[in-house]
Amino acid sequence: MKVYVDKPLCTGCQHCKDVCPVAVFELKDRKNIDEANKDTAPENAQWKGTTDQAILDKWSKVEDGHHHFADANDGTSGGISVAVNGDACILCQACLIQCEGECIHIIDDSGTEYKSIYA
Ligand code: SF4
Ligand code: SF4
Repeated sequence: MKVYVDKPLCTGCQHCKDVCPVAVFELKDRKNIDEANKDTAPENAQWKGTTDQAILDKWSKVEDGHHHFADANDGTSGGISVAVNGDACILCQACLIQCEGECIHIIDDSGTEYKSIYA
């Protein structure tokens, strides 16, 4: 299984890490570009230090206890999600319905792609 995060769409909500039963995701510091790109994201989904404006507009003023778009993770939210352990994914789909940015992509061994839809 290949798993990647479309980084410019990631809010840092940490839902993916919280729900994944096999520890696919880690939240990395947004200022560390190299660390934030250590998954299988294609070029157009890699972190270049800039969040999508529509996502900023949608989530930056939401007060739900999450540190949206914070540079560093504090254990509850913040930082940017990286699918560091995509090989372990069992396609339970828990992350796909919890991802605020709708930015998780999973490609199975047959090439079928699954994308997140925030529920
Ligand atoms: S679908 Fe894969 S990456 Fe997502 S929560 Fe389940 S095991 Fe983790
Ligand atoms: S659930 Fe989605 S938006 Fe939230 S930290 Fe994970 S990848 Fe980013």
